[in-house]
Amino acid sequence: MRKIIIAGNWKMNKTFSETDDFLFEITDYLRGKDLGNVEVVICPPFLYIEMGSDFANESNIYIGAQNVSNHESGAFTGEVSAPMLRSMDIDYCIIGHSERRKYYQESDELVNQKLKILLDYDIIPIVCVGETLEQREKGITEEIVINQLNRAFKDIEINDNVVIAYEPVWAIGTGKTATPQQAQEIQCLIRDWLIENYSKEVADQTPILYGGSMKPENIKELLLQPDIDGGLVGGASLDIEKFTKMIEIATELG
Ligand code: PEP
Repeated sequence: MRKIIIAGNWKMNKTFSETDDFLFEITDYLRGKDLGNVEVVICPPFLYIEMGSDFANESNIYIGAQNVSNHESGAFTGEVSAPMLRSMDIDYCIIGHSERRKYYQESDELVNQKLKILLDYDIIPIVCVGETLEQREKGITEEIVINQLNRAFKDIEINDNVVIAYEPVWAIGTGKTATPQQAQEIQCLIRDWLIENYSKEVADQTPILYGGSMKPENIKELLLQPDIDGGLVGGASLDIEKFTKMIEIATELG
């Protein structure tokens, strides 16, 4: 059975003490809970990775980074490398997020390099793809997503070590969610792309998350779709009540 992943992308939010409080509350909430096939991942800012890793060691949460350098080490001021993340026992790392594509010129080629280096260090990449509103309105959503996948995964062998997140850019942080049908249509396309480019086995094992204004009010309908295996959650993951509610719903649907 495929994993269901509820991953919180905190972006550039929370202070040290807010992070400590949140991690305390979530690990407390999850203590002794049977999550079945649901995995809870928190992606805090880099500064709190060590704290997150300490909490993860004592609980059933996983920690992810929000970015990684495409280089292994060296004179790259301000960057954080995959070997560094591995040395902190970090399990996941988001790459290709639309905010990094938009504000930091993260191209598909760069995503491809980051994907390679993460796999080399046994960190599970959460590879984000998705179209802008303009692209959707032009009717080229499928083409955009397939191109992003082709370029990001160029010359990369995968098995069960990758997560893909479909995040329509127009739904991120806007309060506008894709309908379950809109999301399912593209997530099914991604699953078919995995079958075509890898194998049925890889496609069956790869969690494909939906991201874009996911919240307690809409998570159930989204997760009921056959190709939605969890969520990459921004805004709602900052609020302990909302995030734990989403975990609860995901666990009930299992
Ligand atoms: C995200 O940052 O990946 C995201 C989906 O944000 P939000 O849930 O706030 O739309």
